Formats: sequence, structure tokens, C-alpha cells
Amino acid sequence: MRAAMAAAEVGDDVLGDDPTVHRLEERVAEILGKEAAVFVPSGTMSNLIAVRVHCRPGDEMICEADAHIYNYEQGGYAQICGVAVRPVQGEWGLIRLDQVEGLVRPNNAHFVRTRLLTLENTHNRGGGRVQPYPLVESLTAWARQSNLRTHLDGARLWNAYVATGISPATWAQHFDTVNVCFSKGLGAPVGSALAGPRDLIAEARRHRKVLGGGMRQAGILAAAALYALDHHIERLAEDHHNAKRLAEGLAHIPFVTVMPIPVETNILLFDIDRAWGSAAAFSAVLKEHGVLINATAPQRLRAVTHLDVTAADVDKALAVLDHVAREHRGK
Ligand SMILES: *Cc1c(COP(=O)(O)O)cnc(C)c1O
Repeated sequence: MRAAMAAAEVGDDVLGDDPTVHRLEERVAEILGKEAAVFVPSGTMSNLIAVRVHCRPGDEMICEADAHIYNYEQGGYAQICGVAVRPVQGEWGLIRLDQVEGLVRPNNAHFVRTRLLTLENTHNRGGGRVQPYPLVESLTAWARQSNLRTHLDGARLWNAYVATGISPATWAQHFDTVNVCFSKGLGAPVGSALAGPRDLIAEARRHRKVLGGGMRQAGILAAAALYALDHHIERLAEDHHNAKRLAEGLAHIPFVTVMPIPVETNILLFDIDRAWGSAAAFSAVLKEHGVLINATAPQRLRAVTHLDVTAADVDKALAVLDHVAREHRGK
């Protein structure tokens, strides 16, 4: 990847003439079956731009209550777009059709205008769960019938593809716009992309500029993303395999309860018993022993497997987890 970056042909992408960025944007549009795509510095910016292209101030977005866009992006939809959110509490990231039916507000001056449905696949706080394909079909069909726009936060869509064999374009066809990420599971240093219809992506380029996302010799970064698309998608299966291996091992460690959801991708949620101490304390002791697993709630931790983690590393991590659970209780 570093060699590909060093060899990248570049131009000034603010002027629209960086050939490597063009190649990346065309490639992403093709993979997702969309007319166009725009390269952006982060997933947060990609999602924010999507909200901007779909909504005006006074509009409302429906999303799942544990969604990344609702929890981890500073409420950019409100701060920057003047958009309200209607969160719907799902189960491990999955909402049902009957939970959204009836949520579209009447056309009446008392109400915000319901405008956008956003789904996340795979779902981060849902433990890396893949949205069931028929559910995505039915929710997005409902949205279209209700005159709502649709956006997919597909930061982890590559994982959904590898876990199911359902192509990124097949998932993406149900949405107006799709965000994908090169810097999480795919291991590039920087970058995401927003894909969709040509006119919306032209709008998105204007929003990217005002948000400070115009980049010049960005071909260096686009080359990393292209390398990741070529070499790091199919190998996500190893990450999924390693997460399952971790789950199996954790089942034998005291004070630890793995969440009762299938480990479908590269995320594993587990709880540490109060009798041991807090998740933050457990995380801190693990870190002292060289294992990085963040706490995401008072008793909950979230482990992620990725391209720098081998099966042997998982076994080493399990040995550390077992040691810390048994020997460091209450410390
Ligand atoms: C990480 C993530 C984002 C945000 O991406 P950044 O590049 O960190 O801004 C958005 N959505 C999901 C589902 C993510 O996991």
C-alpha cells in the first residue's frame, strides 16, 4: 500500500484534475452500481454530506437509536444541517418494519418534515450484525412509498458483503446514497466515499468544499484506497473467522459473558461481571498487558479483529484475557 501511494499519479483534486482520485471515484461508483461517487476524508463527513444533500433545515431523519450517525458524529445533522432525528430503538441494531410504519409526520405546520431513512450495515453497536437482506428490502420499499430518501451508512458494507456473499451493489441498489469506508476494515490511512446519482454527488462536492474536505494531491490517499479495494476485501473473511475464534475462547473465561448474538463479522461484544469490576478497569488492565479492547458501556467491551490481528494473536489475547479475569479482579 505504501508503495502504491508513493507511485500514485496526482493532480489538484480541488480543481478536479487528480487522475488517481478520479479512478477511485469511478471504481467505487462501479462497485456500488451508482452513477457517481466522491472521495471524502472521513465517514463522519460522508454521512454529514448525505444528510445535507437529502434534507433542508426543519427536516427529520429516521434512524436506529444505536446508529453511528446518531451517537458518534456529534449530532452533525443538528449542528450543521438543522435536521432533527427520530431514533427508533432496535434489537442489536435491527429495527422492524412495524416500528417505522406510521412515523412519517403529516403535512402540517406543527411538524418537522420527515425526509430521510438511514440504515447502518453492518451495525457497529449492534455487534457487527448484518442487516437481514429482506429487512433492508422492506424498510427501503416502505421509505420510497412514503416519499422518503434513503441513505446507507455502509462504513462496514464490505464486511456485510464478505459475510453474506451479497454484492455491495445489490445492497446499495435499495438506497439513494451510500457511504463506504477505506480506513476501517480495509486498512487505508484515510478516507471514505459517498456514492449516488450524478446530480446529488455534484451537490455533495459543493458541501465537501464548505466543510473543509477539499484536498489537493489527494491521489496519494486515493491510491491507498484503490490498493485496499484490490487486496483487502476478500481477506475480511479472516477477520470474521478470528472474531468467532475469540468468541469461542471467551466462552471459557470467568466473569465474561459474550452477547447472545451471532458473531457474523469482525466485532465481538461482551460483558464483564460487576463482581470483577467495571469495563473501563478491565480495558485498562488489558492494555497494560498489550491487548487493546475498548469499553463501550459500564460493563460492556467491544473487541474488533482486523488485518493486523492474526489467529495466533487471538490466542495470545485470549491467554491475557483469562489471566486478567482471574488474577486482577477488583484491582
Ligand atoms: C467509523 C464509522 C463511521 C465514521 O467514520 P470516520 O471515518 O471515523 O469518521 C460512520 N459509520 C460507521 C458505521 C462507522 O463504523
